[in-house]
Amino acid sequence: MTDRYAVIGNPIAHSQSPRLHAEFARQCHQDISYEAIHAPRDGFADAVAAFRTAGGKGMNVTVPFKLEALDLADTLSERARMAGAVNTLKFDEHGTYGDNTDGVGLVADIRDRLGVDIDGRRVLLLGAGGAARGVILPLLDAGAAALVIANRTPERAVELIAPFGVRAGLHAGGFGMLAKHDFDIVINATSASLSDQSLPLPPDVFADGSLAYDMVYGKGTTRFLADARAHGAAMLSDGLGMLVAQAAESFRLWRGVRPDTVPVMALLQAG
Ligand code: NAP
Repeated sequence: MTDRYAVIGNPIAHSQSPRLHAEFARQCHQDISYEAIHAPRDGFADAVAAFRTAGGKGMNVTVPFKLEALDLADTLSERARMAGAVNTLKFDEHGTYGDNTDGVGLVADIRDRLGVDIDGRRVLLLGAGGAARGVILPLLDAGAAALVIANRTPERAVELIAPFGVRAGLHAGGFGMLAKHDFDIVINATSASLSDQSLPLPPDVFADGSLAYDMVYGKGTTRFLADARAHGAAMLSDGLGMLVAQAAESFRLWRGVRPDTVPVMALLQAG
């Protein structure tokens, strides 16, 4: 019997998730269907309940419902709890399980697709919104020697690391604290690229051989990536691989098999 999955959000028409999961299912010979559900802003819980009652096995959750999904889940993975957000729901006889695969998707993309080791490296994370929050634990788990979080509003960055307690190498503040420091991996988790704005980064923040990674995708070479290249970053990447890898991790949670992301990436890049 075909198992039903869906992505739920508002808006949702732009979502690549149905295409990604259809490709994963074909590749892994899984009999699933995957649809996009547009829920009213005040109708998330009802829409999830209706999908589950109709036999749904799991859902991806996107803007603006990731926090509501956290509250709705009966049990949570540690990474969802630490991220304070859920992007994947799994329904079974035990109830509703909430997970967050964004961070592990980012780590997989940097390590496996780009071939950049995180273990022992100095990582700079820019931004303190939902995207930044979701990747802190996975980056620490991947062995980052230092993880510095810088945000336009410094207090938000400081709040983000509070749940982790005092931890060697973990620091947060404003962009001003970056002077005279350089990093092996610089990740842009701000939305500045969406409005083509530069971040006030010191030019020498990119260490020799460093990777500049913009979580934004579908915008070509963003202002952040162009600035990074001008300031000496050796490798540039947008966030398309993170999108594909987080979807692959959701698929693994539901189906017990992790799809190969390489051919699916190639398909998306081809348009
Ligand atoms: P969010 O919660 O709205 O946070 C936005 C962040 O960007 C805040 O830290 C904000 O700083 C900062 N910011 C916005 N404009 C800025 C500017 N002009 N200069 C400096 N900082 C600025 O957004 P989010 O959910 O974290 O998403 C952030 C980005 O990640 C989005 O572009 C999203 O598309 C992308 N993303 C990609 C993936 C993927 O799979 N590739 C997954 C998740 C998110 P303040 O705190 O000072 O306002």
